[in-house]
Amino acid sequence: MTNTENWEKRINPLVLGIRPSGIRRFFDLVAEMQGVISLGVGEPDFVTPWHIREACMYSLEKGYTMYTSNHGLLSLRQAIARDISAAYGVSYNPRDEILVTVGVSEGFDLACRTILCPGDEVLIPEPSYVSYAPVGVMAGAKPVFIKTSVENGFQVSPVMIEKAVTPKTKALVLCNPNNPTGATLDRQHLLEIAEVVKAHDLILISDEIYGRLTYVGEHTCVPSLPGMRERTILLNGFSKSYAMTGWRVGYAAGNADFISAMTKIHQYTMLCAPVTAQAAALEALKNGEGGMRKMVEKYNHRRRLVMQAFYEMGLPCSEPRGAFYAFPDIRSTGLSSEDFAQQLLQEEKVAVVPGNAFGEQGEGFIRCSYAASVRDLTEAFKRMGSFVRRKRHKSKAWAFSTGKSQIKKEDTCQTV
Ligand code: PLP
Repeated sequence: MTNTENWEKRINPLVLGIRPSGIRRFFDLVAEMQGVISLGVGEPDFVTPWHIREACMYSLEKGYTMYTSNHGLLSLRQAIARDISAAYGVSYNPRDEILVTVGVSEGFDLACRTILCPGDEVLIPEPSYVSYAPVGVMAGAKPVFIKTSVENGFQVSPVMIEKAVTPKTKALVLCNPNNPTGATLDRQHLLEIAEVVKAHDLILISDEIYGRLTYVGEHTCVPSLPGMRERTILLNGFSKSYAMTGWRVGYAAGNADFISAMTKIHQYTMLCAPVTAQAAALEALKNGEGGMRKMVEKYNHRRRLVMQAFYEMGLPCSEPRGAFYAFPDIRSTGLSSEDFAQQLLQEEKVAVVPGNAFGEQGEGFIRCSYAASVRDLTEAFKRMGSFVRRKRHKSKAWAFSTGKSQIKKEDTCQTV
């Protein structure tokens, strides 16, 4: 006789210990409601540009329906190598230093499973993208969180990294521009981080999926820094910059040893990324620059609108310089991030992600994606504005009646 408990006992404890993604949990709720404006999910509101879709259809017409090389189509790898070289001046050999993956998600998993051994520590700045820690755990490693905060613009500093390093530290994960905060790391800052990485002989897993979505200053590609190419696994993809989330195609670039080890796992688990998606990605790289720039301009316009909206609501918000997320401080409402998101959804039908979905450091914040139409953003912020006024009023009344102030002095109404 079996029962549920017995089955559970047979599940890998590493998997049992992992919590489902806070974003997904929340959006299962949203899916059941009508008329919700969602600023929650991290994906472009644009449909993939037509010429890219057409390239996919044409590839089907020509009968490209087979497996590709495990590494991915050579023509795509060559286009990726050209693109990285033109944009950031780093060269990779498309034959053995680039692997086409099923999104950056697979690339990150392969990177972790390739370099992390049980007992190794992997440094993850927090708040962090939801997949990093669970994937690190499933690779058998121990995630060590480096806590960044609003006071330093959610930027991880070389000193913080230095303090977190132990003899067991194997790798550092950087997400630049950052999900969920929109923070970016400039070249000088990255140079200083690179010195610590080199001094401790670490490997850097650099998730640059939002690299092209940089609005202030220029994106610095980590392997372009002196001495970093060999010790960096560069991850990037097509989901965000070309509005291709559903196509599931990305890539990893790195030294031939890393890439050939990653390819071993990939060939036994995935074989190859979907061939039609690879054909579409090739078209994106060949002719997609103009379309991408237009989308970036639109995000940038919305970014300003969002900053203005938070300023008017009196919710402090570090300027998001990249990606398409804002991460405002909601502590002045007296609500936890989970309560804020739940109540905003129930009372105003606006969905945002509670900051604690990105780790402890996200408590007191919410993530709002501005990959939504101007009309939706305007309406969502109107609703959020009245919600915030209501909650703040209530929280002030509560503080007054109990003699406690929930509103801290530093919670100014300025956009920081
Ligand atoms: N990395 C970051 C920082 C992300 O925000 C996301 C998706 O939201 C991914 C990776 C996953 O990307 P992909 O669709 O290429 O798997």
